[in-house]
Amino acid sequence: MPHRTFVIARGPIRWFLLASGSVGIAMPWGRAYLLEPWFQDRLTRLHEIVHLRQMQRDGRVRFTVRYLWWLLRYGYWRNPYEIEAYTIESEARARIGAGKPRRSTRPARA
Ligand SMILES: [Zn+2]
Repeated sequence: MPHRTFVIARGPIRWFLLASGSVGIAMPWGRAYLLEPWFQDRLTRLHEIVHLRQMQRDGRVRFTVRYLWWLLRYGYWRNPYEIEAYTIESEARARIGAGKPRRSTRPARA
């Protein structure tokens, strides 16, 4: 069975995303889980690809430890891994003219 990068979140991962107000999450085993309404969303996919690249660049274990440490130390929006992902996402949004996010509070992506 070919490896799929993007998977629709189900079960506990879906529950976690809903509980944390996120729409997607990249996992150290190289997959990104997205809530169904965002499954085809290009910017959400790009955001998660940035995290998968960060894992390849920094190592999965180091990425995971750092991500959690920075989350505790700086919070979600100031986590350097998130800043990098949201910067790339914003540049792409400007390029493709996708405009504003659909929600007044932009959905978080882990
Ligand atoms: Zn993120």
